[in-house]
Amino acid sequence: MAEPIQIQPNIHCEPCKECGARPVIEQSRKGFLVTCPTNRKHYATAPGLVNIDEWNRFNKKSPVLTGTQYKSKAS
Ligand SMILES: [Zn+2]
Repeated sequence: MAEPIQIQPNIHCEPCKECGARPVIEQSRKGFLVTCPTNRKHYATAPGLVNIDEWNRFNKKSPVLTGTQYKSKAS
C-alpha cells in the first residue's frame, strides 16, 4: 500500500533485466526491498535493508559469475 520510493538519481542502479525500468524502493512489513516498478515478479530483493547491490548483481547484463578462465595446471 505504501508508495514506492524513488532512488536518488546519483545512485547507480542497473535497469530491470526484464523491462528496463529503474528500480524503486518499497517498504514492506519486514523492511525495505528494491524492486521493479512495473512488476515485482521481475525481481525484488529480500526484505530488510535497502540492498541495491543485490539488485545490481541480479540485473547485470553480463554476469561475472561465469568463471570461464580456467587456470592450466602448468608445472
Ligand atoms: Zn521490470
